[in-house]
Amino acid sequence: MAEFEFRGLEIHDSTQIWNLDEIRRRLDFMVKNHMNAMVFHEPGIEDKIVFPAKFLGGSGDPASYYDAFLEVDHAILFHALRENLNLNRRDYMNHVIREAKEAGVDVYFENKELWFSDFILKYRKELMQDGVICPSDPFWYEEFLPYKYKELFLALPDLAGIVCSIGTGEARLAISNTFACSCERCRNLDPVDWYKNMIMALHKPFHEAGKKLIIRDFIYTKDEQERFRKAFMDMPEEIVLSLKNTPHDFYPTFPDNPLMGQVSPHPQITEYDVNGQFFGWGAQPSAMLQDIRRRLRYAKDHQVTGFLARTDWEGVQDWTCFDNPNMVNLYAIAAYAENEDTREEEIYLRWLSGEHMIREDLTPGQLKRCVDTVRDIMDETWPIVEKTNFVNGCLFSNDSCMHLTPDQFTFIGGTHHSLSEWDPEKKDALEMTVENIERILRDKDEAQMLCEKLADKVCAGNMGLTEKAYEDLKEHFEFMRWHVRGFRLTARGYCFGRYVREVKADEVLLNGQTAFELLAGTIREMEEYHDAVCKEPFISKYPYDAQLNPERIRFYTDALRQIALAAKRQK
Ligand SMILES: [Zn+2]
Repeated sequence: MAEFEFRGLEIHDSTQIWNLDEIRRRLDFMVKNHMNAMVFHEPGIEDKIVFPAKFLGGSGDPASYYDAFLEVDHAILFHALRENLNLNRRDYMNHVIREAKEAGVDVYFENKELWFSDFILKYRKELMQDGVICPSDPFWYEEFLPYKYKELFLALPDLAGIVCSIGTGEARLAISNTFACSCERCRNLDPVDWYKNMIMALHKPFHEAGKKLIIRDFIYTKDEQERFRKAFMDMPEEIVLSLKNTPHDFYPTFPDNPLMGQVSPHPQITEYDVNGQFFGWGAQPSAMLQDIRRRLRYAKDHQVTGFLARTDWEGVQDWTCFDNPNMVNLYAIAAYAENEDTREEEIYLRWLSGEHMIREDLTPGQLKRCVDTVRDIMDETWPIVEKTNFVNGCLFSNDSCMHLTPDQFTFIGGTHHSLSEWDPEKKDALEMTVENIERILRDKDEAQMLCEKLADKVCAGNMGLTEKAYEDLKEHFEFMRWHVRGFRLTARGYCFGRYVREVKADEVLLNGQTAFELLAGTIREMEEYHDAVCKEPFISKYPYDAQLNPERIRFYTDALRQIALAAKRQK
């Protein structure tokens, strides 16, 4: 079995991308753990480097980056003053690329197209129709993309390539915007043609500059996935496909991405979120070793030749696995990609010693006990997180934060991030039958019971870590305890609230109590919970105060109160 050729680390937090110390910290890890690609994920990052001069009045054929700049320096002063800073940002980026190269690491950008500056509308006024920018105008693929990337590679000649999402609504302009544009072309557009045109437009400057073009599958439904696959298969073989390990987004409860292995002879890489946008951000620790190992094996079996480990998320500023216990997942993916038979103890040892978390004066026996204890503790985390942040496999959190209302969960877990799209057996996962409610609540009770025990175990005594590392670990588990307690309550509120509203308020549901009584009881418990959380020391710290924001707890409790009031009025 060939090893993974592309071993990438993705930095998503734009404050860190532009912080040289942070970049060095990551490069240091990469050298020690044999990784070779660093990916800067920031929508519009290329716009911090390119002008693009052609659309400010340039010739469209500058010989160098400075030539491009001099073609438009006056226009920049008049129309787009911020572009003045691009020269300095380019110097920073070229420096980073040079340092990375010395460490054996290639640098890539990860962005979303279409992305552009507003002066583009002055260059091509017809793009704006009825107050909407038209995404299907041939300008985008005939002129805009080919020129922009040509200029980018003049600016950063040693940039290895780009990982690009096309067609996502997270871009400034996407195919999904065609519904907003009323032009004839948008109304009759075949999405397959649109994808093809855009990707082929990108391909030309990449091919000429010898850069790697990696396209992401940013897809929400099976139909979209099939359309995308068809379009992709007609394109030049050298275009790489980057696939999330699971369809739609990084949910460990979801099946393997069905697109994997379906695009040969295109090379494929797989993405894994080691920090856990959906499993607690490492604020509540969640060791994913077994899942990572299995997903990598599945990827290898489906002709995947690279992986990209996401270490943070743009939605949570200044927070990365490099600062929390989910760092063990990054050690794991690097280790398993090289040798899937690496022992778990070995990975825990690499993590603890690599991050200088072990006390230096331990005897060999104490060292072994320390590593074993940490492994035992971390092994128990994901089963708890799964029963907390998911309901029957459906995402039960607002990106790991507490929901604002019960309806928000029905939308996120049931519709927007629907599991049933990919696993038909889960179509009744959120049904409000008595049996299903009992199953959901049993999971939450069990998660709480397991978590209290686990947190007690962590607090029972230092297993051999430095004082700082131990205090930090304790704090994470103390937080996790409260997180699990809170999600147990919101799940109860969700079930009882929906039962009151959709089925029957005064029907006995559980333990001889009616749904209404159970809902009223949960509201009281949530009020007490809110007050107790506010007294905990962790709540003054970031990002704990974001994930379990007391404002969110109050908001959710209020939403439950509204449901109870409405039921009372109906009586
Ligand atoms: Zn249009």
